[in-house]
Amino acid sequence: MSKTQLALITGASRGIGMATAAYLARAGFEIIGTATGPTGIQAIEDALAATGRLRAALQLDVSNADSIARFFADLAQAELNPTVLVNNAGVTRDNLLLRMKDDEWETVISANLNAIFRLTRGCLKTMVKARYGRIINVTSVVGVSGNAGQSNYAAAKAGVIGFTKSLAQEVASRGITVNAVAPGFIDTDMTGKLTDQQKEGALAQIPTKRMGHPDEIAAAIGFLASSEAAYITGETIHVNGGMYMV
Ligand code: NAP
Repeated sequence: MSKTQLALITGASRGIGMATAAYLARAGFEIIGTATGPTGIQAIEDALAATGRLRAALQLDVSNADSIARFFADLAQAELNPTVLVNNAGVTRDNLLLRMKDDEWETVISANLNAIFRLTRGCLKTMVKARYGRIINVTSVVGVSGNAGQSNYAAAKAGVIGFTKSLAQEVASRGITVNAVAPGFIDTDMTGKLTDQQKEGALAQIPTKRMGHPDEIAAAIGFLASSEAAYITGETIHVNGGMYMV
């Protein structure tokens, strides 16, 4: 595909999403990035303005169906039709199951799993019409390994992998690939919330003896987003410094 591709990255205001947006901009993609509010939108504009590749920085709450519907209406009005979708936005609400509240379960399932269904469905028609598409879902090592205190998050991220494999089979004949990237322990705000003790415990499990950098996840996503990755679909690429070998 030689035509410039338009890539939509959810949660592009920080961490892995921002690194991915910057990586794809450097690789020649045009970018739509989303954030939950004005501060994040400003952060996307500040980070990407100089690349000349930012088409739009838009507000989106992926856990809210009405927000997603408004978002797609805005895209349609602006005639923005992404053929690359990076479902990156995600949240954690860690707790042991005995103490887990309904809203901790529901928030995590909506932002990490329900959102992927709605965002992907919303982008798929354009990709089918173009007979080309790249869908990359950001899952997690814990969706495969499990992790005490994260039954909600691990359930959502494991669901993402099942979703990825099933959709990959539905749309492969249309030139659309669907893959997942499973980061390990990456240095972002999400892991910044952990205590020093939790960080030490995690680092002890990692053969490379360090946290990953968001750019190292962006590089894997960037490859899957490229036309060269046409023969990889339904796959989960683990980027975790050897923390968990599948
Ligand atoms: P992060 O630094 O906490 O950034 C989260 C991003 O998601 C922000 O851009 C945030 O936007 C956005 N977001 C949060 N809730 C949202 C919502 N309801 N609607 C729309 N956007 C929302 O997280 P990260 O570490 O980069 O994580 C990115 C992805 O990687 C997530 O799916 C996460 O589960 C996955 N992951 C991370 C790690 C890790 O070690 N960091 C490991 C495995 C998997 P605002 O700035 O507007 O809040």
